[in-house]
Amino acid sequence: MRYSAFEIFKQGLTGHRNWPALWRDPVPKERYDVIIIGGGGHGLATAYYLAKEHGITNVAVLEKGWLGGGNTGRNTTIVRSNYMIEGNTEFYEHSLKLWEGLSQDLNYNVMFSQRGQYNTFHNPGQRDVARRRANTLRLNGIEAELIDAKQMAAEVPGLDYSANARFPILGAMYQKRAGTARHDAVAWGYARGADSFGVDIIQNCEVGEFIRDQGRITGVRTNRGDIRADKVGMAVAGHTSHVAAKAGLTLPIETHVLQAFVSEPLKPIFDTVISFGAAHFYISQSDKGGLVMGGDIDGYNSYAQRGGMPTMEHVFAAGVSFMPYLSRLKILRQWGGVMDMTMDGSPIICKSPIDGLYINGGWCYGGFKATPASGWCFAHTIARDEPHEFNAKFGLDRFSRGFALDERGAGPTPHAH
Ligand code: FAD
Repeated sequence: MRYSAFEIFKQGLTGHRNWPALWRDPVPKERYDVIIIGGGGHGLATAYYLAKEHGITNVAVLEKGWLGGGNTGRNTTIVRSNYMIEGNTEFYEHSLKLWEGLSQDLNYNVMFSQRGQYNTFHNPGQRDVARRRANTLRLNGIEAELIDAKQMAAEVPGLDYSANARFPILGAMYQKRAGTARHDAVAWGYARGADSFGVDIIQNCEVGEFIRDQGRITGVRTNRGDIRADKVGMAVAGHTSHVAAKAGLTLPIETHVLQAFVSEPLKPIFDTVISFGAAHFYISQSDKGGLVMGGDIDGYNSYAQRGGMPTMEHVFAAGVSFMPYLSRLKILRQWGGVMDMTMDGSPIICKSPIDGLYINGGWCYGGFKATPASGWCFAHTIARDEPHEFNAKFGLDRFSRGFALDERGAGPTPHAH
């Protein structure tokens, strides 16, 4: 629906009373063709592409809380495709291409901003690693540039470029098409799109158990009753091992907390994303002016979605050594999300060994960028009962066969998100 400027103004003054909901609030049916557990970006994108690409519309997305209340609404929204291992390369580049057309496809502004990303290096060894990565990416048709400190200082002033800095900046690997997006809008846009195809999006609906019939998964037990389905897909991010265990599966996944921070709003300082992977620090500036920052995962297993002081100290010690002016910054908020960490840092998108159950998980700290391709590939896998070539290497069997996809921190430098 389109509104005139006057109508939008009137809606604002009347508490949006007549504003149509973006998606319906249906009562769960007794049976669907496909159930997706988890109403984050990945689950909603899967439902959208099941309907749009495969014509499967008798689908329910079951979310225990509210849409995007998990990692989708907690992440720092960095999107990039500079992965260099075969398997990851084509998948993340496909994702970036989907991002580039996403607002048009959904007819919903996800505020995708291709502001570029710099991954800094600080000694000759790191520069060699960055050069190798940039060369590999370019050979695979993915743009990446190596720039020196002089060029970077001209493009991103304000960092400590002095030779006696704690970690002298020698340059960066730069991906121009990388950027950020508005996380909530991604969930809402996919939800609206899926709903318009007839998908039921059901919030406050927690899956407690699986229903099995002669070994096959045939539905789920929820706090809103039993719901049957021919196929059940999980896209529950940090809860992957916990939910899979209810089906009797033990996955090679551990859950850790990842924290992030946002500052008071400032005037525009820089219009790009900077990752200082060597010391676990990255930063961008939101459209509201807040500096959005993060670091490494907490070093112990936890499902607690909250922040803590030791990580804050660690992240800002690294940040101040890199951007000394951060010492005068006031932090507004700190939060945590739960990460399903695989042993090789790469995700799982596949049919599970149990008939009727499909797994999407193991996103570690980097799944937001994957949202479009993850949904696209998971929908293909569920609809056709086989992986697409883009997720063919994301099977569970790689852990038993020893074909790990280890990018050493899944980026040009560790923890670059
Ligand atoms: P979620 O949004 O977590 O969705 C899973 C949903 O499943 C949740 O809403 C949850 O409530 C629901 N659920 C769980 N159990 C059940 C159940 N039993 N029944 C029903 N529903 C259930 N990635 C990047 O690419 N770039 C970044 O810059 C980046 N920064 C990050 C920073 C932080 C602080 C965090 C926490 C994460 C970051 N990530 C980043 C990672 C990214 O957010 C995740 O990998 C990605 O969002 C996970 O997929 P999802 O969106 O579907 O998960």
